[in-house]
Amino acid sequence: MGLLTIGSPLTWEETEKYSDHVRKHGVIQFINLYRQLKNRQNDCLKWGDEIEYMIVKFDHANKTAKLCLKAEKLLPILQEKENKNQGDLKALWRPEYGAYMIEGTPGTPYGSLSSCFNTVEANMKARREEVEELLESDECLLCLTSFPRLGCKNFTFPPVEHDPRTSVLRSLFFPDLAVYGGHPRFKTLSRNVAQRRKKKIIINAPIYRDKNTPDPFVEDFSKLYDDGESARAALPNHVYMDCMGFGMGCSCLQVTFQACNINEARILYDQLAPVCSIALALSAASPVHRGYLIDKDCRWDIISGAVDDRTDEELALKCLKSRYDSIDSYLSPAGEKFNDFELMYDENVYKQLREAGIDHLLSQHIAHLFIRDPILLFSEKIHQNDEEDTDHFENIQSTNWQTMRFKPPPPNSSIGWRVEFRTMEVQITEFENAAYVVFIVLLTRVILTFQLNLLIPITKNNENLAKAQNRDAVLYEKFWFRKDLTTGESPPEATAYMAECGCSDECEYALMTINEIINGKENEFPGLVPLIQKFLTSMDVDVDTQCSIQQYLKLIQLRAKGELLTAARWIRNFISKHPSYNFDSAVGEEINYDLLCSINQITRGTGCPELLGHPTSRTRDHIPSAVTKAEKSYSGLKIDKNT
Ligand code: ADP
Ligand code: MG
Ligand code: MG
Repeated sequence: MGLLTIGSPLTWEETEKYSDHVRKHGVIQFINLYRQLKNRQNDCLKWGDEIEYMIVKFDHANKTAKLCLKAEKLLPILQEKENKNQGDLKALWRPEYGAYMIEGTPGTPYGSLSSCFNTVEANMKARREEVEELLESDECLLCLTSFPRLGCKNFTFPPVEHDPRTSVLRSLFFPDLAVYGGHPRFKTLSRNVAQRRKKKIIINAPIYRDKNTPDPFVEDFSKLYDDGESARAALPNHVYMDCMGFGMGCSCLQVTFQACNINEARILYDQLAPVCSIALALSAASPVHRGYLIDKDCRWDIISGAVDDRTDEELALKCLKSRYDSIDSYLSPAGEKFNDFELMYDENVYKQLREAGIDHLLSQHIAHLFIRDPILLFSEKIHQNDEEDTDHFENIQSTNWQTMRFKPPPPNSSIGWRVEFRTMEVQITEFENAAYVVFIVLLTRVILTFQLNLLIPITKNNENLAKAQNRDAVLYEKFWFRKDLTTGESPPEATAYMAECGCSDECEYALMTINEIINGKENEFPGLVPLIQKFLTSMDVDVDTQCSIQQYLKLIQLRAKGELLTAARWIRNFISKHPSYNFDSAVGEEINYDLLCSINQITRGTGCPELLGHPTSRTRDHIPSAVTKAEKSYSGLKIDKNT
């Protein structure tokens, strides 16, 4: 969730007063950072995933499953080794928005050895074990993108008293105590976003219309102490949600990559942007919100609404999107001609960046981030040394939640320029999470090695992101995607391969199904996985790693074909077959309990052929020394178009 500065948060009124101050110094801090680090070279590939987990408490006698509010109790224990600097950590643990959530990342990032691909899944398993050792026998750690009954009556354990008339969130559904309280960031962020927009958050997700769903579907909130604000905001035939907890209380799967230098980071940022929607549709896992099936499969628009701090006047501006949305501009020279979105940016900031010698594309990007007000400020952090601190820059950066994030190196660290891939929904099992992560990392290697170009106009990315969330988008939607991926710089083997697949560059991009994008289309498009396979033939990979990679790619391919289900589709099928489902879109306690029991079993390896096939990956928790020796010569890829 980004920066976690400890301190005393200011009220919204105070924070607002310092808006210009934070922006002014944030830009100076970025300029200083840029000057110091723009020529940083030769960082090698490093990468790591982030998984957000939910802690669930079962009551088997009463057949209920609740979100367990114990992250604050667990985190100090999980962070003990890290805080004592007891090297060699398997995992790092961080708080997340919900008091029932935690975020886990590998203890150290993965490196450029191909055998790292085979340790990801084992590491994810080890992470889970670290937490589960601390849980009671009726509790478990699940990877759920959305908890189906989040915000329903008594959805937490322990149950908490809740009065929207006096709470900070003012939500009719989500109690303050379900927000992680161990750090002031989360609650203050929620309060300030609502205060900035001058009313509660409004999220309306279209309800999934089943044969007995009331028509129109309209809820009565008067018993929940609604003062009329919610009744006015809720749309008929939609599931209404009213606070940050609904989106920020969802989980996701992210991957961060280190590039060899700033130029490679710009290339990766741009090239992965068109993949964000494709990966979102392929990873769809959240069809139920606030106890109802909705007509979307993904969390994205919900979280986008959940942190939307725009005032009514700002909402009327077409070119000002939510802070949580797709990227608005490309950063690499090749991307420039595809920057067709008329993005808003702060002209003074832009001028200042240009005068400091920063190119148009990067200046525009930063000046665009800086149209936002800082939404959270700690009193201890107001006055900073712009030569050394970057908190004001990070403040604005970390509250711009776009599909990709361009991350400058932290000052005085060994970390290089990085990009973050942020759209994927978290999968139920470690096998799947590893598969999606490995797929994306391999794709970056293919893009760099074959010097491919996946760029489409920014406005087409926006269209894709909206479609990706539709029900069963993986099967029924068509996405804008580039037809010929080769460039003038592509090596002959890549160009020849592309020609063999029948690519023509008559029209740069076309509408394709996910199956075509992932698996290819005869005489037209090679497919991303076949391209990865082509790349793998030139890479030195040990037998076990090769076996696991093949299993991961197969999962991606079969999901794209529809031969394996997305988690969203599997959850929908489970609910519609449940004996207590009334075909009215409502997901009651008992369905929720049985669904989460099944998900828990799948997590623990009972298998689920329609979701997973029959995976037999050979993941291992370390890289055998024989493999390390054999691989020493493989140093990852270092490509810099400008050198
Ligand atoms: P965020 O700001 O998104 O919360 P985190 O600091 O939690 O990011 O880290 C995201 C991921 O980046 C983790 O998986 C971590 O292992 C990985 N990571 C850490 N250092 C590097 C690095 N130098 N290069 C690439 N990835 C790294
Ligand atoms: Mg992240
Ligand atoms: Mg993180």
